[in-house]
Amino acid sequence: MSSTEKLYLEYKSVMQKVADVKYAAAVLQWDQETYLPEKGAEFRGRQLATLSEISHEMFINDKNEGLLKDLLSKDLPQEQKRNVALTWEDYSRLKKLTPEFVRKMSETVSASFFAWIEARKQNSYKIFEPKLAPLVDLKRQEAELYGYEGHPYNALMDEYEKGATVQKIDTIFEDIKLPLRQLLSEIQNDRPVDDSFLRQHFLKQQQWEWGMYLAKQLGFDFERGRQDISEHPFTTNFSSQDVRITTRIDEHDFANMTWSTIHEVGHALYEQGLPPEQYGLPLGEYASLGIHESQSRLWENCVGRGNAFWSYYLPQLKQFFPEQFKDVSKDQFLKAINKVQPSLVRAEADELTYHFHVMVRYELEKRLIEGSLQVKEIPLYWNDQYKALLGVDVPDDKSGCLQDVHWSHGSFGYFATYSLGSFYAAQLWQHANKTIPGLETEISQQGKTKSLLLWLRNNVHKHGRFYNSNELCAAVTGHELDSKVFVSYLKEKLNDLK
Ligand SMILES: [Zn+2]
Repeated sequence: MSSTEKLYLEYKSVMQKVADVKYAAAVLQWDQETYLPEKGAEFRGRQLATLSEISHEMFINDKNEGLLKDLLSKDLPQEQKRNVALTWEDYSRLKKLTPEFVRKMSETVSASFFAWIEARKQNSYKIFEPKLAPLVDLKRQEAELYGYEGHPYNALMDEYEKGATVQKIDTIFEDIKLPLRQLLSEIQNDRPVDDSFLRQHFLKQQQWEWGMYLAKQLGFDFERGRQDISEHPFTTNFSSQDVRITTRIDEHDFANMTWSTIHEVGHALYEQGLPPEQYGLPLGEYASLGIHESQSRLWENCVGRGNAFWSYYLPQLKQFFPEQFKDVSKDQFLKAINKVQPSLVRAEADELTYHFHVMVRYELEKRLIEGSLQVKEIPLYWNDQYKALLGVDVPDDKSGCLQDVHWSHGSFGYFATYSLGSFYAAQLWQHANKTIPGLETEISQQGKTKSLLLWLRNNVHKHGRFYNSNELCAAVTGHELDSKVFVSYLKEKLNDLK
Protein backbone atom coordinates (compact mmCIF):
# COMPACT_ATOMS: atom_id res chain seq x y z
CA MET A 1 0.00 0.00 0.00
CA SER A 2 1.36 3.42 -0.97
CA SER A 3 1.68 6.23 1.55
CA THR A 4 -1.14 8.12 -0.20
CA GLU A 5 -3.42 5.10 0.10
CA LYS A 6 -2.59 4.87 3.80
CA LEU A 7 -3.36 8.53 4.23
CA TYR A 8 -6.73 8.13 2.54
CA LEU A 9 -7.58 5.17 4.77
CA GLU A 10 -6.72 7.22 7.82
CA TYR A 11 -9.00 9.99 6.57
CA LYS A 12 -11.79 7.50 5.93
CA SER A 13 -11.45 6.06 9.42
CA VAL A 14 -11.66 9.51 11.05
CA MET A 15 -14.71 10.43 8.98
CA GLN A 16 -16.49 7.17 9.77
CA LYS A 17 -15.93 7.60 13.49
CA VAL A 18 -17.34 11.12 13.33
CA ALA A 19 -20.31 9.66 11.46
CA ASP A 20 -20.77 6.99 14.16
CA VAL A 21 -21.22 9.70 16.77
CA LYS A 22 -23.48 11.81 14.56
CA TYR A 23 -25.73 8.88 13.73
CA ALA A 24 -25.85 7.86 17.40
CA ALA A 25 -27.12 11.39 18.09
CA ALA A 26 -29.63 10.95 15.26
CA VAL A 27 -31.00 7.83 16.99
CA LEU A 28 -31.54 9.86 20.16
CA GLN A 29 -33.19 12.60 18.14
CA TRP A 30 -35.48 10.14 16.39
CA ASP A 31 -36.41 8.71 19.78
CA GLN A 32 -37.01 12.22 21.10
CA GLU A 33 -39.63 12.79 18.44
CA THR A 34 -41.30 9.40 18.65
CA TYR A 35 -41.12 7.61 22.02
CA LEU A 36 -39.34 9.76 24.61
CA PRO A 37 -41.42 10.17 27.79
CA GLU A 38 -42.06 13.80 28.71
CA LYS A 39 -39.83 13.88 31.76
CA GLY A 40 -36.86 12.53 29.86
CA ALA A 41 -36.66 15.72 27.82
CA GLU A 42 -34.22 17.67 29.96
CA PHE A 43 -31.48 15.04 30.17
CA ARG A 44 -32.02 14.07 26.56
CA GLY A 45 -31.23 17.66 25.65
CA ARG A 46 -27.96 17.29 27.56
CA GLN A 47 -27.08 14.00 25.93
CA LEU A 48 -27.60 15.42 22.47
CA ALA A 49 -25.57 18.52 23.28
CA THR A 50 -22.68 16.39 24.53
CA LEU A 51 -22.70 14.21 21.42
CA SER A 52 -22.77 17.21 19.10
CA GLU A 53 -19.86 18.74 20.98
CA ILE A 54 -17.91 15.47 20.80
CA SER A 55 -18.49 14.99 17.07
CA HIS A 56 -17.45 18.59 16.43
CA GLU A 57 -14.22 18.09 18.37
CA MET A 58 -13.53 14.79 16.65
CA PHE A 59 -13.80 16.53 13.27
CA ILE A 60 -12.36 19.98 13.87
CA ASN A 61 -8.79 19.68 15.15
CA ASP A 62 -5.26 20.42 14.00
CA LYS A 63 -4.49 16.77 13.26
CA ASN A 64 -7.39 16.45 10.81
CA GLU A 65 -6.59 19.79 9.29
CA GLY A 66 -3.05 18.57 8.56
CA LEU A 67 -4.36 15.28 7.19
CA LEU A 68 -6.81 17.02 4.86
CA LYS A 69 -4.20 19.49 3.63
CA ASP A 70 -1.86 16.60 2.94
CA LEU A 71 -4.51 14.76 0.96
CA LEU A 72 -5.49 17.86 -1.00
CA SER A 73 -1.98 17.98 -2.41
CA LYS A 74 -2.01 14.32 -3.54
CA ASP A 75 -3.04 12.86 -6.84
CA LEU A 76 -6.09 10.80 -5.87
CA PRO A 77 -8.59 8.75 -7.89
CA GLN A 78 -11.62 10.85 -8.89
CA GLU A 79 -14.08 9.75 -6.19
CA GLN A 80 -11.53 10.04 -3.41
CA LYS A 81 -10.51 13.43 -4.66
CA ARG A 82 -14.12 14.60 -4.56
CA ASN A 83 -14.62 13.25 -1.02
CA VAL A 84 -11.57 15.07 0.23
CA ALA A 85 -12.50 18.34 -1.52
CA LEU A 86 -16.03 18.27 -0.09
CA THR A 87 -14.77 17.38 3.37
CA TRP A 88 -12.37 20.30 3.18
CA GLU A 89 -15.30 22.61 2.34
CA ASP A 90 -17.23 21.28 5.36
CA TYR A 91 -14.17 21.56 7.54
CA SER A 92 -13.47 25.15 6.57
CA ARG A 93 -17.06 26.08 7.28
CA LEU A 94 -17.44 24.28 10.61
CA LYS A 95 -14.06 25.43 11.85
CA LYS A 96 -15.61 28.83 12.31
CA LEU A 97 -17.75 27.48 15.17
CA THR A 98 -16.27 26.66 18.58
CA PRO A 99 -17.29 23.45 20.42
CA GLU A 100 -18.91 25.69 23.07
CA PHE A 101 -21.01 27.38 20.42
CA VAL A 102 -22.07 24.02 18.98
CA ARG A 103 -23.04 22.78 22.43
CA LYS A 104 -24.96 25.96 23.22
CA MET A 105 -26.83 25.67 19.91
CA SER A 106 -27.78 22.05 20.60
CA GLU A 107 -29.04 22.86 24.13
CA THR A 108 -31.01 25.84 22.90
CA VAL A 109 -32.55 23.75 20.10
CA SER A 110 -33.69 21.04 22.53
CA ALA A 111 -35.28 23.60 24.88
CA SER A 112 -36.98 25.28 21.98
CA PHE A 113 -38.26 21.99 20.55
CA PHE A 114 -40.01 21.06 23.79
CA ALA A 115 -41.43 24.57 24.11
CA TRP A 116 -42.82 24.19 20.59
CA ILE A 117 -44.51 20.88 21.50
CA GLU A 118 -46.03 22.50 24.60
CA ALA A 119 -47.03 25.64 22.71
CA ARG A 120 -48.86 23.49 20.15
CA LYS A 121 -50.64 21.58 22.90
CA GLN A 122 -51.87 24.82 24.44
CA ASN A 123 -52.26 26.53 21.08
CA SER A 124 -50.26 29.52 22.26
CA TYR A 125 -47.27 31.12 20.57
CA LYS A 126 -46.50 32.92 23.85
CA ILE A 127 -45.10 29.64 25.25
CA PHE A 128 -42.73 29.20 22.32
CA GLU A 129 -41.58 32.81 22.02
CA PRO A 130 -39.15 32.99 25.02
CA LYS A 131 -37.36 29.82 23.82
CA LEU A 132 -37.32 30.81 20.18
CA ALA A 133 -35.85 34.27 20.78
CA PRO A 134 -32.42 33.04 22.06
CA LEU A 135 -32.30 30.53 19.21
CA VAL A 136 -32.82 33.27 16.60
CA ASP A 137 -30.06 35.27 18.30
CA LEU A 138 -27.74 32.27 18.03
CA LYS A 139 -28.60 31.77 14.35
CA ARG A 140 -27.80 35.41 13.68
CA GLN A 141 -24.47 34.93 15.43
CA GLU A 142 -23.90 31.78 13.42
CA ALA A 143 -24.40 33.69 10.16
CA GLU A 144 -21.77 36.21 11.30
CA LEU A 145 -19.36 33.44 12.30
CA TYR A 146 -19.72 31.66 8.95
CA GLY A 147 -19.41 34.95 7.11
CA TYR A 148 -21.25 35.81 3.88
CA GLU A 149 -21.41 38.01 0.85
CA GLY A 150 -24.54 40.11 0.48
CA HIS A 151 -27.32 39.05 2.85
CA PRO A 152 -26.64 37.30 6.22
CA TYR A 153 -29.37 34.78 5.37
CA ASN A 154 -27.10 33.48 2.57
CA ALA A 155 -24.80 32.02 5.21
CA LEU A 156 -27.64 29.94 6.65
CA MET A 157 -29.16 28.84 3.34
CA ASP A 158 -25.77 27.61 2.21
CA GLU A 159 -25.89 24.84 4.80
CA TYR A 160 -28.95 23.28 3.15
CA GLU A 161 -28.50 24.26 -0.46
CA LYS A 162 -24.96 25.10 -1.40
CA GLY A 163 -24.83 28.24 -3.50
CA ALA A 164 -28.38 29.39 -2.77
CA THR A 165 -28.53 33.14 -2.19
CA VAL A 166 -31.25 35.64 -1.42
CA GLN A 167 -30.67 37.12 -4.84
CA LYS A 168 -31.20 33.81 -6.65
CA ILE A 169 -34.19 32.69 -4.59
CA ASP A 170 -35.85 36.11 -4.82
CA THR A 171 -35.57 35.88 -8.62
CA ILE A 172 -37.02 32.36 -8.74
CA PHE A 173 -39.96 33.37 -6.56
CA GLU A 174 -40.53 36.58 -8.52
CA ASP A 175 -40.58 34.59 -11.77
CA ILE A 176 -43.07 32.06 -10.52
CA LYS A 177 -45.42 34.24 -8.49
CA LEU A 178 -47.32 35.73 -11.40
CA PRO A 179 -47.96 32.53 -13.40
CA LEU A 180 -49.07 30.79 -10.20
CA ARG A 181 -51.42 33.64 -9.34
CA GLN A 182 -52.92 33.56 -12.84
CA LEU A 183 -53.39 29.82 -12.68
CA LEU A 184 -55.00 30.14 -9.27
CA SER A 185 -57.49 32.78 -10.35
CA GLU A 186 -58.46 30.68 -13.40
CA ILE A 187 -59.15 27.73 -11.12
CA GLN A 188 -61.09 29.82 -8.64
CA ASN A 189 -63.50 30.68 -11.45
CA ASP A 190 -64.21 26.99 -12.11
CA ARG A 191 -66.87 24.93 -10.41
CA PRO A 192 -65.75 23.97 -6.89
CA VAL A 193 -64.47 20.40 -6.51
CA ASP A 194 -66.19 18.10 -4.02
CA ASP A 195 -63.59 16.41 -1.82
CA SER A 196 -65.86 15.76 1.17
CA PHE A 197 -65.45 11.97 0.81
CA LEU A 198 -61.84 12.38 1.93
CA ARG A 199 -63.06 13.62 5.29
CA GLN A 200 -65.22 10.69 6.33
CA HIS A 201 -64.20 8.52 9.27
CA PHE A 202 -61.11 6.40 8.57
CA LEU A 203 -59.99 4.18 11.44
CA LYS A 204 -56.44 4.69 12.63
CA GLN A 205 -55.48 1.04 12.36
CA GLN A 206 -56.82 0.69 8.82
CA GLN A 207 -55.02 3.83 7.73
CA TRP A 208 -51.82 2.51 9.25
CA GLU A 209 -52.15 -0.73 7.29
CA TRP A 210 -52.90 1.14 4.07
CA GLY A 211 -49.85 3.36 4.62
CA MET A 212 -47.61 0.35 5.26
CA TYR A 213 -48.95 -1.34 2.12
CA LEU A 214 -48.20 1.75 0.03
CA ALA A 215 -44.70 2.11 1.47
CA LYS A 216 -43.93 -1.51 0.55
CA GLN A 217 -45.39 -1.17 -2.92
CA LEU A 218 -43.28 1.91 -3.62
CA GLY A 219 -40.12 0.01 -2.71
CA PHE A 220 -39.37 1.07 0.87
CA ASP A 221 -37.15 -1.70 2.22
CA PHE A 222 -38.41 -2.68 5.69
CA GLU A 223 -35.31 -4.77 6.30
CA ARG A 224 -33.42 -1.49 6.18
CA GLY A 225 -35.89 0.79 7.92
CA ARG A 226 -39.17 1.20 9.79
CA GLN A 227 -42.13 3.51 10.15
CA ASP A 228 -43.44 5.10 13.38
CA ILE A 229 -45.78 7.89 14.50
CA SER A 230 -44.67 11.43 15.37
CA GLU A 231 -46.05 14.96 15.81
CA HIS A 232 -44.52 16.12 12.52
CA PRO A 233 -43.76 13.49 9.86
CA PHE A 234 -40.07 13.20 8.99
CA THR A 235 -37.36 10.91 7.63
CA THR A 236 -34.03 10.28 9.27
CA ASN A 237 -31.30 7.74 8.76
CA PHE A 238 -28.49 6.16 10.74
CA SER A 239 -26.83 4.78 7.60
CA SER A 240 -28.24 3.77 4.23
CA GLN A 241 -29.03 0.45 5.92
CA ASP A 242 -31.32 1.93 8.56
CA VAL A 243 -33.74 4.61 7.39
CA ARG A 244 -36.65 5.74 9.58
CA ILE A 245 -39.84 7.39 8.44
CA THR A 246 -42.69 8.69 10.55
CA THR A 247 -46.26 9.66 9.85
CA ARG A 248 -49.30 11.03 11.67
CA ILE A 249 -52.87 9.86 11.35
CA ASP A 250 -56.03 11.96 11.44
CA GLU A 251 -59.14 9.76 11.53
CA HIS A 252 -61.19 12.44 9.80
CA ASP A 253 -58.76 13.28 7.03
CA PHE A 254 -57.73 10.57 4.61
CA ALA A 255 -55.31 12.79 2.69
CA ASN A 256 -53.10 13.71 5.63
CA MET A 257 -51.50 10.33 6.30
CA THR A 258 -51.57 8.97 2.75
CA TRP A 259 -49.60 11.69 0.99
CA SER A 260 -47.33 12.40 3.91
CA THR A 261 -46.39 8.71 3.86
CA ILE A 262 -45.70 8.77 0.12
CA HIS A 263 -43.68 11.94 0.66
CA GLU A 264 -41.52 10.47 3.41
CA VAL A 265 -41.10 7.24 1.45
CA GLY A 266 -39.70 9.39 -1.37
CA HIS A 267 -37.11 10.80 1.04
CA ALA A 268 -36.38 7.33 2.39
CA LEU A 269 -35.88 5.74 -1.04
CA TYR A 270 -33.17 8.32 -1.64
CA GLU A 271 -31.43 7.50 1.65
CA GLN A 272 -31.72 3.76 1.04
CA GLY A 273 -30.19 4.32 -2.39
CA LEU A 274 -27.05 6.07 -1.17
CA PRO A 275 -23.91 3.94 -1.58
CA PRO A 276 -23.16 2.07 1.70
CA GLU A 277 -19.45 1.75 0.86
CA GLN A 278 -19.27 5.55 1.19
CA TYR A 279 -20.59 5.50 4.77
CA GLY A 280 -19.52 8.63 6.64
CA LEU A 281 -18.05 10.25 3.52
CA PRO A 282 -19.57 13.02 1.39
CA LEU A 283 -20.29 10.66 -1.51
CA GLY A 284 -22.44 8.63 0.90
CA GLU A 285 -24.61 11.68 1.66
CA TYR A 286 -27.47 13.40 -0.18
CA ALA A 287 -26.61 16.15 -2.67
CA SER A 288 -28.62 18.95 -1.08
CA LEU A 289 -31.96 19.46 0.65
CA GLY A 290 -33.45 20.73 -2.60
CA ILE A 291 -32.56 17.43 -4.26
CA HIS A 292 -33.79 15.50 -1.21
CA GLU A 293 -37.10 17.31 -1.48
CA SER A 294 -37.22 16.65 -5.22
CA GLN A 295 -37.34 12.95 -4.40
CA SER A 296 -40.18 13.27 -1.89
CA ARG A 297 -42.19 15.66 -4.05
CA LEU A 298 -41.70 13.54 -7.15
CA TRP A 299 -43.18 10.50 -5.44
CA GLU A 300 -45.85 12.43 -3.56
CA ASN A 301 -47.12 14.59 -6.41
CA CYS A 302 -45.88 13.56 -9.83
CA VAL A 303 -46.44 9.86 -9.10
CA GLY A 304 -48.77 9.79 -6.08
CA ARG A 305 -51.32 12.33 -7.29
CA GLY A 306 -51.21 11.14 -10.87
CA ASN A 307 -53.73 9.43 -13.13
CA ALA A 308 -51.56 6.37 -13.84
CA PHE A 309 -50.96 5.66 -10.17
CA TRP A 310 -54.62 5.72 -9.18
CA SER A 311 -55.70 3.71 -12.21
CA TYR A 312 -54.07 0.82 -10.40
CA TYR A 313 -54.32 1.87 -6.76
CA LEU A 314 -57.91 3.14 -6.46
CA PRO A 315 -59.28 -0.41 -6.77
CA GLN A 316 -56.73 -1.48 -4.12
CA LEU A 317 -57.79 1.40 -1.89
CA LYS A 318 -61.40 0.32 -2.20
CA GLN A 319 -60.45 -3.01 -0.68
CA PHE A 320 -59.00 -1.25 2.38
CA PHE A 321 -61.97 1.14 2.73
CA PRO A 322 -64.89 -0.43 0.87
CA GLU A 323 -67.54 1.74 2.53
CA GLN A 324 -65.88 5.13 2.23
CA PHE A 325 -64.90 4.90 -1.44
CA LYS A 326 -67.59 2.64 -2.83
CA ASP A 327 -69.25 5.28 -5.03
CA VAL A 328 -66.15 7.28 -5.86
CA SER A 329 -64.95 7.20 -9.48
CA LYS A 330 -61.32 7.62 -10.48
CA ASP A 331 -62.18 10.95 -12.01
CA GLN A 332 -63.79 12.24 -8.82
CA PHE A 333 -60.93 10.88 -6.76
CA LEU A 334 -58.24 12.54 -8.88
CA LYS A 335 -60.05 15.86 -8.83
CA ALA A 336 -60.42 15.71 -5.06
CA ILE A 337 -56.80 14.81 -4.30
CA ASN A 338 -55.56 17.56 -6.62
CA LYS A 339 -58.03 20.18 -5.46
CA VAL A 340 -56.49 23.64 -5.49
CA GLN A 341 -57.64 25.79 -2.63
CA PRO A 342 -55.78 28.34 -0.52
CA SER A 343 -55.49 26.92 2.97
CA LEU A 344 -53.72 27.30 6.29
CA VAL A 345 -51.33 24.38 6.52
CA ARG A 346 -48.29 24.03 4.26
CA ALA A 347 -47.81 20.29 4.66
CA GLU A 348 -51.37 19.69 3.44
CA ALA A 349 -51.41 22.32 0.72
CA ASP A 350 -52.07 21.57 -2.95
CA GLU A 351 -49.24 21.66 -5.47
CA LEU A 352 -50.00 25.23 -6.53
CA THR A 353 -50.65 27.23 -3.37
CA TYR A 354 -47.90 25.29 -1.58
CA HIS A 355 -45.36 27.76 -2.88
CA PHE A 356 -47.14 30.75 -1.36
CA HIS A 357 -46.78 29.01 2.02
CA VAL A 358 -43.06 28.68 1.38
CA MET A 359 -42.72 32.30 0.29
CA VAL A 360 -44.26 33.54 3.56
CA ARG A 361 -41.72 31.60 5.63
CA TYR A 362 -38.81 32.54 3.40
CA GLU A 363 -39.55 36.27 3.65
CA LEU A 364 -40.19 36.01 7.37
CA GLU A 365 -36.88 34.25 8.03
CA LYS A 366 -34.95 36.71 5.90
CA ARG A 367 -36.31 39.54 8.01
CA LEU A 368 -35.64 37.76 11.32
CA ILE A 369 -32.04 37.10 10.36
CA GLU A 370 -31.39 40.60 9.04
CA GLY A 371 -33.01 41.93 12.23
CA SER A 372 -35.88 43.86 10.65
CA LEU A 373 -38.49 41.59 12.27
CA GLN A 374 -38.58 40.64 15.97
CA VAL A 375 -39.50 37.20 17.30
CA LYS A 376 -42.48 38.63 19.18
CA GLU A 377 -43.87 40.05 15.93
CA ILE A 378 -44.01 36.67 14.16
CA PRO A 379 -47.72 35.85 14.64
CA LEU A 380 -48.88 39.24 13.44
CA TYR A 381 -46.55 39.19 10.43
CA TRP A 382 -47.54 35.63 9.61
CA ASN A 383 -51.26 36.31 9.76
CA ASP A 384 -50.94 39.45 7.62
CA GLN A 385 -48.96 37.60 4.96
CA TYR A 386 -51.40 34.70 4.85
CA LYS A 387 -54.17 37.18 4.23
CA ALA A 388 -52.16 38.99 1.56
CA LEU A 389 -50.74 35.98 -0.34
CA LEU A 390 -53.31 33.26 0.23
CA GLY A 391 -56.37 35.29 1.18
CA VAL A 392 -57.06 33.24 4.31
CA ASP A 393 -57.67 34.30 7.91
CA VAL A 394 -55.53 32.47 10.44
CA PRO A 395 -57.75 31.53 13.38
CA ASP A 396 -55.08 30.49 15.88
CA ASP A 397 -51.34 29.93 16.37
CA LYS A 398 -51.49 26.16 15.96
CA SER A 399 -52.73 26.42 12.39
CA GLY A 400 -50.62 29.55 11.94
CA CYS A 401 -47.02 30.18 12.89
CA LEU A 402 -46.73 27.11 15.17
CA GLN A 403 -47.47 24.60 12.41
CA ASP A 404 -43.93 23.76 11.30
CA VAL A 405 -41.26 22.12 13.44
CA HIS A 406 -38.29 23.75 11.65
CA TRP A 407 -37.71 26.85 13.75
CA SER A 408 -37.78 24.83 16.95
CA HIS A 409 -34.96 22.76 15.40
CA GLY A 410 -33.01 25.91 14.56
CA SER A 411 -33.47 25.14 10.87
CA PHE A 412 -33.43 28.65 9.45
CA GLY A 413 -32.63 28.83 5.74
CA TYR A 414 -34.40 25.56 5.00
CA PHE A 415 -37.81 26.48 3.60
CA ALA A 416 -36.81 27.64 0.12
CA THR A 417 -35.58 24.09 -0.55
CA TYR A 418 -39.21 22.91 -0.43
CA SER A 419 -40.03 24.95 -3.50
CA LEU A 420 -36.75 24.15 -5.21
CA GLY A 421 -37.51 20.48 -4.57
CA SER A 422 -40.85 20.73 -6.37
CA PHE A 423 -39.22 22.46 -9.33
CA TYR A 424 -36.42 19.88 -9.55
CA ALA A 425 -39.04 17.15 -9.22
CA ALA A 426 -41.03 18.41 -12.21
CA GLN A 427 -37.88 18.51 -14.32
CA LEU A 428 -36.78 15.02 -13.27
CA TRP A 429 -40.27 13.63 -13.81
CA GLN A 430 -40.51 15.13 -17.28
CA HIS A 431 -37.17 13.59 -18.15
CA ALA A 432 -37.95 10.20 -16.60
CA ASN A 433 -41.07 9.99 -18.74
CA LYS A 434 -39.08 10.71 -21.88
CA THR A 435 -36.35 8.23 -20.98
CA ILE A 436 -38.09 5.23 -19.43
CA PRO A 437 -40.08 3.30 -22.03
CA GLY A 438 -43.61 2.37 -20.95
CA LEU A 439 -43.35 4.00 -17.52
CA GLU A 440 -46.97 5.22 -17.36
CA THR A 441 -48.33 1.87 -18.56
CA GLU A 442 -46.30 -0.06 -16.03
CA ILE A 443 -47.66 2.13 -13.24
CA SER A 444 -51.27 2.18 -14.39
CA GLN A 445 -51.56 -1.52 -15.29
CA GLN A 446 -49.40 -3.19 -12.67
CA GLY A 447 -48.92 -0.55 -9.99
CA LYS A 448 -45.19 -0.98 -10.51
CA THR A 449 -42.78 1.87 -9.95
CA LYS A 450 -39.62 -0.24 -10.02
CA SER A 451 -38.20 1.13 -13.25
CA LEU A 452 -38.67 4.69 -11.99
CA LEU A 453 -36.90 3.83 -8.76
CA LEU A 454 -34.09 2.16 -10.65
CA TRP A 455 -33.75 5.21 -12.88
CA LEU A 456 -33.56 7.49 -9.84
CA ARG A 457 -31.06 5.15 -8.19
CA ASN A 458 -28.78 5.30 -11.22
CA ASN A 459 -29.19 8.96 -12.06
CA VAL A 460 -29.57 10.63 -8.68
CA HIS A 461 -29.11 8.42 -5.61
CA LYS A 462 -25.85 6.65 -6.37
CA HIS A 463 -23.94 9.92 -6.87
CA GLY A 464 -24.29 11.09 -3.27
CA ARG A 465 -22.78 14.56 -3.09
CA PHE A 466 -20.56 14.10 -6.14
CA TYR A 467 -22.52 16.81 -8.01
CA ASN A 468 -24.10 19.85 -6.42
CA SER A 469 -27.81 20.27 -7.08
CA ASN A 470 -27.61 22.32 -10.25
CA GLU A 471 -24.84 20.17 -11.72
CA LEU A 472 -26.87 17.07 -10.94
CA CYS A 473 -29.98 18.53 -12.52
CA ALA A 474 -28.02 19.45 -15.64
CA ALA A 475 -26.27 16.06 -15.78
CA VAL A 476 -29.56 14.16 -15.57
CA THR A 477 -31.97 16.35 -17.55
CA GLY A 478 -29.60 18.30 -19.79
CA HIS A 479 -30.63 21.63 -18.24
CA GLU A 480 -30.07 23.53 -15.03
CA LEU A 481 -33.06 24.25 -12.82
CA ASP A 482 -35.84 25.98 -14.75
CA SER A 483 -39.01 26.77 -12.83
CA LYS A 484 -40.93 27.13 -16.12
CA VAL A 485 -40.93 23.35 -16.42
CA PHE A 486 -42.80 23.19 -13.13
CA VAL A 487 -45.36 25.77 -14.29
CA SER A 488 -46.07 23.88 -17.51
CA TYR A 489 -46.24 20.54 -15.66
CA LEU A 490 -48.81 22.01 -13.28
CA LYS A 491 -50.84 23.72 -16.00
CA GLU A 492 -51.06 20.52 -18.01
CA LYS A 493 -52.02 18.44 -15.02
CA LEU A 494 -54.72 20.82 -13.80
CA ASN A 495 -56.08 21.24 -17.33
CA ASP A 496 -56.37 17.47 -17.75
CA LEU A 497 -58.46 17.34 -14.61
CA LYS A 498 -61.02 19.84 -15.86
ZN1 LIG B 1 -39.87 16.63 2.65
